[in-house]
Amino acid sequence: MDERKPQMKTLRSDNLREFVSSLLDVYRIFAPVNGSDRLMRVDTPGSLDLPRGNIKLSPKSFFFPQTETLFIFDRKTHRALEKDEGAQEKPLLLFGIRPCDARAFALMDRIFTDDAPRDPYYFKRKESAITITLACTHPSPTCFCTSVGCAPDAEDGADIIFYELEHRYLIKTLTPHGDAVIERVQACMQNATEDDNREKDHLMKAANEKVERCFDCEALQVKLDEFDAPYWQELHHKCLGCGVCTFLCPTCHCFDITDEALRRLGRRVRTWDSCMFPLFTQHASGHNPRPTQKERLRQRIMHKFNYTKKCYDETFCVGCGRCILYCPVNIDIRQLIKEILEAQ
Ligand code: SF4
Ligand code: SF4
Repeated sequence: MDERKPQMKTLRSDNLREFVSSLLDVYRIFAPVNGSDRLMRVDTPGSLDLPRGNIKLSPKSFFFPQTETLFIFDRKTHRALEKDEGAQEKPLLLFGIRPCDARAFALMDRIFTDDAPRDPYYFKRKESAITITLACTHPSPTCFCTSVGCAPDAEDGADIIFYELEHRYLIKTLTPHGDAVIERVQACMQNATEDDNREKDHLMKAANEKVERCFDCEALQVKLDEFDAPYWQELHHKCLGCGVCTFLCPTCHCFDITDEALRRLGRRVRTWDSCMFPLFTQHASGHNPRPTQKERLRQRIMHKFNYTKKCYDETFCVGCGRCILYCPVNIDIRQLIKEILEAQ
């Protein structure tokens, strides 16, 4: 049984940069910076700029890069060669990501590290990394985390969570790794009081109420058991098959593997793929079991809300809303699900 007690601290807002500064010697820190669409390396604490909403590009690429070389091989001897790993870097610390993205890490762990054999590439990056989340006090209209088992103050997948109170942050450690980080920065923090906790509870109650509850995952899973339901004929019409929704999604994890060769050397490369692309399931024979966007859109919904529920007892959507915000033809996954649930 886990006997550890979380540490509860406060940090004055104007000490946030000191907090980050004290960690720069030990960690490679990435955080939202000056309105960037992704987490950026923080080399000086002055560049830190925590936005109200979420960043456009999810942080999944830190552990599951869009393209990575798995190994180099010699085409003549058919042997794999040692990959040059470069200099040993400081451990990674992601600061200020949102709880939905940290929960997505916990879901990705189920895929890449929980089952044997675990994925050594993902695991190597993830095992030493620290995740510090910032609870959402101003959820966006496209957020629906509370419909999919997540919340503006969800703790899954994070080592530390920050709550933004008036003129200060309340900080809660969630893992021994989080405790170790806080040990390094004790000097700029105080112990949290009952008043701090009350203010946090009040804020988070309001934030939870702001997120619209759109559907029931259990009912959806049952509904999706009818694989060939007539509504699939209609739902895909607008979809362009561009894959933006899957590339931005923090839980989409499908990939392709290819070999590239130049003279004697070759390399095996893993790249993100998308079930929304026509070639995703094309066989060498030319046959494609998902020949139209109808089958591809169905796969995306089924995988997230039915298959993973059956395999892992998890819904592989954290309600971040990125696919809604950035779909070029305004397909809203909440609306698709509503139509599925209302279909006779
Ligand atoms: S972003 Fe929109 S149009 Fe593009 S594949 Fe996804 S649902 Fe289809
Ligand atoms: S399906 Fe859409 S809302 Fe759900 S986690 Fe992926 S991008 Fe976010």
